[in-house]
Amino acid sequence: MMFAWVLRAAFAALLMAGMSWAQSCEMPQAPVPSIATPGLAGQPVEALPPEPASGFRAGMQAVRAKGFMVVTANPLASQVACAVLQNGGSAVDAAVAAQMVLGLVEPQSSGLGGGAFLLHWEAHTGVLRSYDGRETAPLAATPDDLSISPASTTGPAPQIREVFQALRSRGTSIGTPGVLRMLELAHQAHGRMAWPDLMRPAQTLATQGFAISPRLAQAIAQARDDLLPDAQAAAYFLNQDRTPKLAGTRLHNPAYAHTLQAIAQGGANAFYVGEIAQDMVRKVQEQQGARGMGKLRLQDLAQYRALVREPVCTLYRAYRVCGMGPPSAGALVIAQALGMLAHFDVPAMPPRMLVPDPAAVHLVSEALRLAYADRNTYMADTDFVPLPAQGVAAVLSPSYLAQRAALIQSRSMGKASAGDVAAMKPASSDSEGKGTTHVSIVDAQGNAVVMTSSIESSMGSFRFVRGFLLNNQLTDFAWLPEPGPPSANRIEPLKRPRSSMAPTLVFKPQAGQVDSLYMATGSPGGPAIMPYVLKTLLGVLDWGLDAQSAAALLNFGAFNSPQTFIEGDHPAMHAQPSHMQTQSLLEALRARGHQINLGPQTSGVGLIMRDGEHWVGGADPRREGLVLGGP
Ligand code: GLU
Repeated sequence: MMFAWVLRAAFAALLMAGMSWAQSCEMPQAPVPSIATPGLAGQPVEALPPEPASGFRAGMQAVRAKGFMVVTANPLASQVACAVLQNGGSAVDAAVAAQMVLGLVEPQSSGLGGGAFLLHWEAHTGVLRSYDGRETAPLAATPDDLSISPASTTGPAPQIREVFQALRSRGTSIGTPGVLRMLELAHQAHGRMAWPDLMRPAQTLATQGFAISPRLAQAIAQARDDLLPDAQAAAYFLNQDRTPKLAGTRLHNPAYAHTLQAIAQGGANAFYVGEIAQDMVRKVQEQQGARGMGKLRLQDLAQYRALVREPVCTLYRAYRVCGMGPPSAGALVIAQALGMLAHFDVPAMPPRMLVPDPAAVHLVSEALRLAYADRNTYMADTDFVPLPAQGVAAVLSPSYLAQRAALIQSRSMGKASAGDVAAMKPASSDSEGKGTTHVSIVDAQGNAVVMTSSIESSMGSFRFVRGFLLNNQLTDFAWLPEPGPPSANRIEPLKRPRSSMAPTLVFKPQAGQVDSLYMATGSPGGPAIMPYVLKTLLGVLDWGLDAQSAAALLNFGAFNSPQTFIEGDHPAMHAQPSHMQTQSLLEALRARGHQINLGPQTSGVGLIMRDGEHWVGGADPRREGLVLGGP
C-alpha cells in the first residue's frame, strides 16, 4: 500500500524530538499534549472559552525545510499530507488528503459533514483564489429553527451556554455540508494526483484503525451525555457500558472507509446524491427525543454549490494580507484592525518572553472592539444582505479606518459603536461554538493552500452517520433575540451563516513581478479566530518572531465588550521570570480601564513563513498540531 510506511512510521519518530530541520516527512517534534480542564463559570457569552485546552506543549521549535511544508492539527494528517507533497502532489492534493484524515482522527473539529473556506495561491501566475464551502441553510429554513425563549437569555453566562447546548443539538442546526464540493472544485482546478489516491490514506487508516488522541478523548468525555441519544454516535465513541473511549484506544471506522470508497469512485456526487445523501437526510429526520428533527432534504444536498469568490486583500506596512471575504467576517475584521493599527508604531512595542507589551495589547484590543462593532452590525452573507456603501471598499477604506483609529484613546473605550459606513439594518452579535481545524500547506512549486474547516461546535450536532458527524453550523446565524430590526445575519433559506474563519496568506509585493508568498496562517477558535490570527500576523510582521514563537505568544484581544482577554492559562502567566511581567501587564491594562478576562484561549494556529531560502513552520502548542516538511 502506497502510504503504508506513513502508518508504520506514525509516532515512531518521537525520538527526533527537539530537532528543527525537517527530514522529509519525519516527525520532528513530540506531539504529546497534557490535558487541562478549564473552568467555565462566570464567562460572558462572547468569551465562552474555545474548545477545551489540551495543555501547552513546552519546548517546541520552529521547523525548517527547503522544498515543501505542511502544518495540520493532527500528526497523522500532517504525515499523510507531507507524503502527498513528497510524491509530487500539489498543495490542494495535500489539503484533500489531509481533510479526509482529519475527518477521521479529529472528527470533533471537521469532516465531510461540515464546511470550510480555502485560499489558493498559484505561484507561477500569481493568481489568488478563495473557495467557499460554507454550509447553507436548507430551502425549508424558517426563523423558528433557531428561536429560543427570550427569558432564557437573560441569565448568567452558564445559563446561556445551556441554551446554546440545546440549540446546537436540534436537527435544525444542521446546514448542508460544503467541504467536499469545495475540495472537488479546488482539486479540479489545482489537483495533480488522481482523486481516488487522495482518499486512500484515510480509507486505510479507517480500516486498520488509529489510536484516539488525548484531545479527541477529552472531546468524547465532555460530550458523552450528548452522544448517547444518537445510537450510531454512541456506538462509535462510547464503550458498550456507555463510558467514553479513552486516549490510546484503537478506533476502527469501516463506515467512513466505505463512504470514502464511494467518493473515490463517484466523486462528490456520490455524497450529495444517492444512498449517502439519503442516509444523511434520514439522520437529520431522527427526532432524538426532545432534540427534534431538522429540515435538510435531498434537494438541499443535490443543489449545493461551492463557490469561487474574490479574496479580500489589504496593505499593511510592507505586506499584502489576504483572506476570506463574506460570508466570513474573518478577513474584513483583520483588515480593519490592521488598517487602524497602521496609524500606530506597533513595531516599537515588541513582546518579551512571549508576553505582549501592554501598549500593544491596549491598541490591538481597541482596534478589535471597533472592528467587531462593524462585524456585528454589517457583516453577513453578502449574497443576501450587502455591505453598506461600496461594500468591501467602503468598509476597508483608508479614510474610514483613519477615522476609526482616531477613536482609540489612552483609556479603553469599553464598548464601541459601529461606524457610519452607511445606514443599514443591524445584525446582532452572537456566540459561536468551536469545532474547527486549520491547515497550511506550501508545495514544492511554491503554491500554497490555507484552509479552515469546521463542523462548528466540538462534535457538531452529535449526529453521526456513515462514519462522520453532521455539523451544527446554522447556530452561526444570529439566534440571541435582540430588539430592533432583524439581523443581517438572520437565517434565510440557502443563506450561509456568518463565519469568523480566517485562512490568511501574506505577500511581499515586488514592483513589476509576481508577489512573493511570505506567510500562510489561520486558526480555529470561533469568534476569537480573528484575534488569534491578528496576534500571529503582528508577531511575525511587526515583531520579527519566528513561526513557533508567533504561535506560542500569549493570546490577547477583545470582542466588542469592555472585557479584554488575556490568556490566563498560558505558562508565562505562572512561570518565572515572566510571571512578574504578566502581573505588570494586567496592572497596566486595568489602569487604562480594561476589564480583564483570564479565561483560556485555546487557539490552534498553524503557520508557515518564508525565511530566505527556507520555509519555517510553527504549530500551536495549545493543541496537537504538527509541522512537517521536505527538501
Ligand atoms: N463556526 C465558526 C465559524 O465559522 C468556527 C468555530 C470554531 O472556530 O471552532 O466562524
